[in-house]
Amino acid sequence: MEELIGEGKSAKLAMRQIYSMNRPFCFSCGDQIKGGKPGISMFCQSKVECRRWYRRYRTLKEKFRNKGIENPKKQAIATVAAEIFIKERMNESRTTN
Ligand SMILES: [Zn+2]
Repeated sequence: MEELIGEGKSAKLAMRQIYSMNRPFCFSCGDQIKGGKPGISMFCQSKVECRRWYRRYRTLKEKFRNKGIENPKKQAIATVAAEIFIKERMNESRTTN
């Protein structure tokens, strides 16, 4: 009986660990998105920069959808992720120079 309770507890703990592992992270700043859903939430909305990227993502998604591009959501996030990467690289070279 006690063993069963112990197993139940560890299962719950394991599930919680999996849940926290699957927590979404912001594409812009890399922070964990509080109350966000994995695969759905992509920007944390708590920073001006992140909200700006989110707007950019939505604009792109609409643009791709209007153009009839397949998977507009996927294409939009890929484009925004690339733009964030480029911007970060530019910032890096600016600070090192
Ligand atoms: Zn963020």
